[in-house]
Amino acid sequence: MSEFALPPPDIVSLPIAGGDERFPVRRIYCVGRNYLAHIREMNEGADERDPPFFFQKPRDAVVHDGESVPYPPLTSSFHHEVELVVAIGSGGADIPQARALDHVFGYGVGIDLTRRDLQTVAKDKGWPWEMGKSFDASAPLGALARARDVGHRTDRRIALSVNGAVRQHSTIAHMTWSAAEVVSKLSEQYRLEPGDLIMTGTPEGVGAVAAGDRLEATIEGLPGLTVTIVAEAAR
Ligand code: MN
Repeated sequence: MSEFALPPPDIVSLPIAGGDERFPVRRIYCVGRNYLAHIREMNEGADERDPPFFFQKPRDAVVHDGESVPYPPLTSSFHHEVELVVAIGSGGADIPQARALDHVFGYGVGIDLTRRDLQTVAKDKGWPWEMGKSFDASAPLGALARARDVGHRTDRRIALSVNGAVRQHSTIAHMTWSAAEVVSKLSEQYRLEPGDLIMTGTPEGVGAVAAGDRLEATIEGLPGLTVTIVAEAAR
């Protein structure tokens, strides 16, 4: 039996509502723009009919419900984006839209934490979005609910509050690209595998947070997610 030269990384997983089993996380994909009102609030002249595009966050950026998020370095514009999370239960490539939901294990709520100032620099320079999107602790994710328990509803309310004040509230019915369309489109670029997660884009109302802030993200009918921003960690 071979041995690792270094301690291997932990397996990252999410709790699943209604039992003790956990969902092992393979990749975290994110949709760049998926609500018209958010595209408009970003006021950057993006074509509102562009097909969805994708970026990734590393799986070790996951922060669980009830945990803390250290304020990240190199930013003074640290933003929240509440998003529906689609969890893939069976893999496939070039999945037709009509079959896409058969591949969905369940749903959850996540927060696509963003260093907005660094994302803006990346956009201006034509650089990848990693420095704005894929930093440590950038992916708070709540427990998942199984689709067999909660169905594939497309009209759930979605909201995020900071210290009890509502900042974002919409419905996933306003997604430009539905969960089925997102799964189908993404599977054209990558073969999806069990354990993949897709953060499906944020509605309007994004804004900055500071150390001490408590973020509560909710999607109707799904487990909630609360995290607290704390002062930048010693590194
Ligand atoms: Mn986002």
